[in-house]
Amino acid sequence: MDQLSDDRSFATAGKVQPGNSADMTALDLSRLITAAADTIADHAEELTALDQAIGDGDHGLNMKRGFEAVRTEADAFAAKPLPEALKAIGTKLVMTVGGASGPLFGTLFLALGREISADPDRADLTAAFGKAIEAVAARGKSQVGQKTLLDVLQPVHDALAGGMTAAEIADIADAAAEATVPMKALRGRASFLGDRSIGHMDAGARSTALLVRTLAHIIGDKG
Ligand code: ADP
Ligand code: MG
Repeated sequence: MDQLSDDRSFATAGKVQPGNSADMTALDLSRLITAAADTIADHAEELTALDQAIGDGDHGLNMKRGFEAVRTEADAFAAKPLPEALKAIGTKLVMTVGGASGPLFGTLFLALGREISADPDRADLTAAFGKAIEAVAARGKSQVGQKTLLDVLQPVHDALAGGMTAAEIADIADAAAEATVPMKALRGRASFLGDRSIGHMDAGARSTALLVRTLAHIIGDKG
């Protein structure tokens, strides 16, 4: 049940299946958006607390504002072809999340939308996700190992490429966020603290892992 068991499990997340009506697509993407917004809302205080420890304490509110804005347009976004929907979500996140993370999460979705086909299988999704991570790294002038959301995105990509199940990918995302605790921040506000950033989980890594678990759970259910 909770598995990305084959290509179809990804393919059904945001596209028309052969023989199915376009309503199915809208329903699925709308469900993904709603679930993501719910998760962020449920964890906003936790994300804020993480950002308070080594940043300025706005990450929970930033993410909640952005995902609530996406939620209000979920049906309109879900009615679009997948690439257009992802670009619209990215644009909305850039406009509403704010902080450093807004342009970064926005870039992730914008680049995914640019790179993905309307009818992706697992290999297509993995390739598009890899390109999207490169776009985030370029936007943030950052790379893996600097205690940012990239430290979750890259292991999730590698798990996707390695054929892991949804449940395994969600666990890998959580472990990757956990693995930012001993890291020293080299990008973003936390880097201003130098060694004092060590010993705290990166807020953006945590929000990314939360989103990965939510999306993997729903997409995996469909396999
Ligand atoms: P701000 O840092 O402007 O207050 P947020 O608190 O919303 O913005 O987001 C902080 C998160 O953004 C960090 O936890 C980190 O994961 C991510 N981040 C910040 N700067 C960068 C960067 N240059 N590259 C990649 N990720 C970054
Ligand atoms: Mg902040």
